[in-house]
Amino acid sequence: MSLGRSFRLFSKVCKDVGRVEVRALSCSRAHYCEAGLPPPLTQFTDEEVMMKESVAKLANEVIAPLVRKMDDEHKFDPKVVEALFENGLMGLEVPTEYEGTGTGFLASMLVVEELAKVDPSVSALVDIHNTLVNALLIKVGSEEQKKKYLPLLSRKYPGSFCLSEPSSGSDAFALKTVAKKDGSDYLITGSKMWISNSDLAGVFLVFANANPAAGYKGITCFAVERDAPGFEVGKKETKLGIRASGTCTLHFDNVRVPESAIVGEYGHGYKYAAGFLNEGRIGIGAQMIGTAQGALNNTIPYTLERKQFGQDIFSFQSMQHQIAAVVTQLEAARLMVYNAARLREAGQPFLKEAAMAKYYASEVAQLVTVKCIDWMGGVGFTQDYPQEKFYRDVKIGAIYEGTTNMQLSTIAKAIRKEYS
Ligand SMILES: Cc1cc2nc3c(=O)[nH]c(=O)nc-3n(C[C@H](O)[C@H](O)[C@H](O)COP(=O)(O)OP(=O)(O)OC[C@H]3O[C@@H](n4cnc5c(N)ncnc54)[C@H](O)[C@@H]3O)c2cc1C
Repeated sequence: MSLGRSFRLFSKVCKDVGRVEVRALSCSRAHYCEAGLPPPLTQFTDEEVMMKESVAKLANEVIAPLVRKMDDEHKFDPKVVEALFENGLMGLEVPTEYEGTGTGFLASMLVVEELAKVDPSVSALVDIHNTLVNALLIKVGSEEQKKKYLPLLSRKYPGSFCLSEPSSGSDAFALKTVAKKDGSDYLITGSKMWISNSDLAGVFLVFANANPAAGYKGITCFAVERDAPGFEVGKKETKLGIRASGTCTLHFDNVRVPESAIVGEYGHGYKYAAGFLNEGRIGIGAQMIGTAQGALNNTIPYTLERKQFGQDIFSFQSMQHQIAAVVTQLEAARLMVYNAARLREAGQPFLKEAAMAKYYASEVAQLVTVKCIDWMGGVGFTQDYPQEKFYRDVKIGAIYEGTTNMQLSTIAKAIRKEYS
């Protein structure tokens, strides 16, 4: 049975047996709940454990052999993308009625983390597709849009979240793409830059200003299909890391879309962009802790085997202290990511915690990957080992879905509010 089928069957079983038995199924977390204690953050439900373990297996068996090739060729192997769809990983939180897998948010984060341990590019594809594109359609899409796009996004093609432009990155709401009313339609004109998954995407959630006179309050989100006349996927960037993930510019020349292409409410695009990026940041945190763990998994065994001065290099106390220190920092980052994910899942405020998790996880992951190269010595600097790729891949975490400075600004704003 494919993983997708078993995930789907599992969620069906959960729905069928009802609340009490689902809690019974989630043995370790349920144990704490029944005792009236909050479960530790590293205690997972049965569904989460199953997702984590099955995705780790898929990543090691199907993705791992193709990682270097995909990095060299700057594109995904179709077998990998196919496996993601077949195994339900492209419709993680999508309800089963729309042909999705119907998982919880933390389970999705575990998927992103497990994939990043093997290939941060694949993790980026799954993360952005699920936490930004699917999530937006699930939460604010019309019934017609959900019926049309969610099954396709779960089974057939990736989607793209199109906010950034050549002149608006951190200052996202300064975007210049416009959507001009023309009868009952809109004509979208402008350019987007840095759009992940756009080489493969079938649908693009495009943020355009439908009423520039109203400033950012005119920003509206539109679903644009790949074959829309006047729409073109342009240059693919040659990047430092996550090279297999396609990042392209997009051009819109009077792209006609009907009013029904508006996702959510007219003029609410700025709220959706900000809100869904807040959630998406937890996913980037998960990608970062996975990438760092992947680097460590490939490095610690080497330090236990490599001998210098008659002993394995792990035995030198100065090595042990460095390793212990960064593994501790990584554990702290992981707990922050899980905490933000649990808050989001429980419907609690998570803005500050998500920004902190993304900021800290991306900083720690940079430190871990650079240290892994140090601990490997010369071979860590070559393409014969995966450390150099993890080191290149991890850099993106401090840039996309809000740079480190922007996360710090969000955290500072929350601190000011708490003390005012
Ligand atoms: C590989 C990749 C994939 C991406 N995928 C997507 C995608 O799918 N969809 C999408 O919409 N976008 C995507 N992006 C865009 C990404 O979100 C932006 O690159 C990011 O938000 C930063 O914007 P910028 O590149 O314009 O940098 P800038 O905003 O120009 O920032 C440059 C520097 O100035 C600092 N800075 C800017 N303003 C301030 C401030 N107010 N205070 C302090 N410091 C500040 C920044 O922190 C940064 O260090 C992607 C980018 C990359 C590289």
